[in-house]
Amino acid sequence: MPPCGVKGKVHCFDSEIFGERGSISFYIVKTEKPSIVETGPATIADRILKSLKDLEIDRGDVKYIFITHIHLDHSGGVGKLTKFLPNAKVVCHPKATKHLINPAKLWEASKSALGGVAEGYGEPEPVDEGLIVPASNLQKFDLGNDTMLSVLTPGHAPHHVSFFLEKDKILFPGDSAGVYGFGKVVPTTPPPFRLEDAIHSLDRMTELKPEFIAYTHFGFAENHDLLEKLRSKLIKWSEIALAVVEKGGETSELHSELMKADEDYQDLYEVTKDSVIISGFHQLTLAGLIDYARAKLQNKI
Ligand SMILES: [Zn+2]
Repeated sequence: MPPCGVKGKVHCFDSEIFGERGSISFYIVKTEKPSIVETGPATIADRILKSLKDLEIDRGDVKYIFITHIHLDHSGGVGKLTKFLPNAKVVCHPKATKHLINPAKLWEASKSALGGVAEGYGEPEPVDEGLIVPASNLQKFDLGNDTMLSVLTPGHAPHHVSFFLEKDKILFPGDSAGVYGFGKVVPTTPPPFRLEDAIHSLDRMTELKPEFIAYTHFGFAENHDLLEKLRSKLIKWSEIALAVVEKGGETSELHSELMKADEDYQDLYEVTKDSVIISGFHQLTLAGLIDYARAKLQNKI
């Protein structure tokens, strides 16, 4: 399987899950001590093993698996992969640890949020507790000829952490910097979305001055002003959601308002409407913004 791009020491691969191109990627960092960033769902674990082989990386040499959060499209395959990578430690947000050790609750929640898509992603296998390294903010992980820095980035999810490959200046934001495609970026804000956390997280990532952003959805982008762009969109979209909720509106009204207010949303919505995965994200984004606006108006957050 050819990579969908290489920047510095980082190789991007398309999981091609459900036969869809450009929806979920995973990354292999070919440093002296190699690592994987994001595993994708359980059903694509074999593809990762194959990609390691293509890059002539021995399974025993993989030092870390960095996962941004526990949603199945990002780390559903981590438990399965650890069975094949004997020396790999799993780096995650401290709040993610318990869900990796015992994914039963996560699996039930995923089935109810994602329906049939969750079945297609596959049930996550538990990760051995001894393999887990809970990351703190700005912790450095030695990869030999480069260093991976962890940056805690809640907002999209409370258990979200991003990673930054310092010498190559490549940021792996998971879902904390939105969904990217065709040069455009839009928010991804499933419940329980927290605007203030998301903005703070974006500021933390902006401070790192990344040259490239390696989006899980999807692929590499040169970071001109993508983080700043997303920041203003998050604020604008939340304001629109507040106005919709004040008028008694729901997700369908929010969708119509966003289609009018944001050309990027209009464009990305159109090109991705046949994607089972990305169209599902848009639905969850609307639901998260409505929930956030309701909670805000009722002074619950
Ligand atoms: Zn995602």
